[in-house]
Amino acid sequence: MKFKADEIASVIQREIEQFESRIDVRQVGRVIEIGDGIARVYGLSDVMAGEMVEFPSSAGDVNGLAFNLEENSVGVIILGDYLSINEGEEVRGTGRLLSVPVGDAVLGRVIDPLGNPLDGGGPIASSEQRLVESEAPGIAQRQPVNVPLQTGIKAIDSMTPIGRGQRELIIGDRKTGKTVICIDTIINQKDSGVKCFYVAIGQKESTVAGLIESLRKHDAMRYTTVIVAGASDPAPLQYVAPYAGCAMAEYFSYKGQDALIIYDDLSKQATAYRQISLLMRRPPGREAYPGDIFYCHSRLLERAAKLSDELGGGSLTALPIVETLEGEVSAYIPTNLISITDGQIYLQPDLFFAGQRPAMNVGISVSRVGGAAQVPAMKRVAGGLRLDLAAFRELESFAQLGTDLEAATQAQLDRGYRMTELLKQGLFHPLHVTDQILSIYAGTRGHLDKIPVAEVHAWEEGFLEFIHKEKEALWQKITDDRKLDDETIDEIDRAIAEYQERYAGAKETVKA
Ligand code: ATP
Ligand code: MG
Repeated sequence: MKFKADEIASVIQREIEQFESRIDVRQVGRVIEIGDGIARVYGLSDVMAGEMVEFPSSAGDVNGLAFNLEENSVGVIILGDYLSINEGEEVRGTGRLLSVPVGDAVLGRVIDPLGNPLDGGGPIASSEQRLVESEAPGIAQRQPVNVPLQTGIKAIDSMTPIGRGQRELIIGDRKTGKTVICIDTIINQKDSGVKCFYVAIGQKESTVAGLIESLRKHDAMRYTTVIVAGASDPAPLQYVAPYAGCAMAEYFSYKGQDALIIYDDLSKQATAYRQISLLMRRPPGREAYPGDIFYCHSRLLERAAKLSDELGGGSLTALPIVETLEGEVSAYIPTNLISITDGQIYLQPDLFFAGQRPAMNVGISVSRVGGAAQVPAMKRVAGGLRLDLAAFRELESFAQLGTDLEAATQAQLDRGYRMTELLKQGLFHPLHVTDQILSIYAGTRGHLDKIPVAEVHAWEEGFLEFIHKEKEALWQKITDDRKLDDETIDEIDRAIAEYQERYAGAKETVKA
């Protein structure tokens, strides 16, 4: 038998080449402990904080996120079913930070925080990805909020207006209509071109299903993405859900478009974060939340912005929701969020049960930047509304003492009853801003003073119908001008007088 030297050489050469490609393999570690959705891993010495890791031998397609980098080990949070992972199993670093699919492909879909479809549709066909955690734009990359974001809710658009790029907190006890306000706002974006993202964190699946159904029914899923980390999903998924949603929404704002994101709710995200932090043995602070819980929320909400013109002038508006216990706004998480956001809409249970819905407490709800973006016509008609209502509330409690009131006080009370009635609004019934302006104008100018409180809604409905049917030109003029000059006001007064006559006439015929 003869040896061919060049044959042997080529075999050795191939071996060497393959050997080299084998040591190209990524970092590998081993699971030393697993449980409660977290794993402790030995050996991933070069892994980055926030890097995705894989568990190649586990049955499911499970990923993890490097969360705690310690001296001898790495704490990994498992984004999925941790029960399929065993001790001693291999863990691989991917060299990639967590990212999600973004772009038009996510619109109209229901997905989990990693971008996997939950609506039974096919995979998200998107060629683009975006990092889940990215830095918020700095001062020079922003500009002041100057375009309104119409919620379609009279009480909000008139008294606590929201601008594109603003962060407005929705705060209240459980079952006070927090979610409904946000859903109405999404429905109202039908013709505004604003892309909407609804992040459901820790909610019951049946609740989320109902909500998606409502969005579908109102044709709002066309421009909306729902990101769901339900109550039965692992805490790590609930924790990353808002950042994932934010990345998807940010994509549009950096493209120069407008986006709206709703986090429902951040109390549950804080609880999930507390859970993983405690499991990771991070030191607990106030209410057992970790020390960086403020940063957890501030870095998320700072990503909402009105971008400068150089960056395309897009905007990301955020409506975070936080739940309070027994109206306790001075609890840890609510105070943090109040201080991070540009204002809050406070919903109060006693108002809600008294039938004042949306149950907004006008006295302590504020919008710190939206006023600059409010439609001037609305500003003109609703300017004094807040103070009038506050004065009314005071008078109302005084009037309950049963004393005789002078005529002026009684008139103020009558006006207040009608205005509060007018500000009630049913669910899934957002109003166009011009309709709101006309209604509120009628109320604040006293055109409703003679109408019984119980009839205010019927009056309003009929009035708006009358305007749309017979005064379309006036309606269009207010919509186009966005402000009210004296001439337009005269025209509105004439229209109201005409409608009043007709309304009185119709009532006469009903009586007869
Ligand atoms: P949770 O604490 O469960 O998240 P929530 O504060 O989000 O509750 P919603 O789910 O928005 O409250 O509303 C609770 C109920 O109140 C809803 O079922 C809805 O029917 C009713 N509701 C809310 N707003 C209005 C409204 N403007 N008009 C009539 N009903 C309303
Ligand atoms: Mg809710």
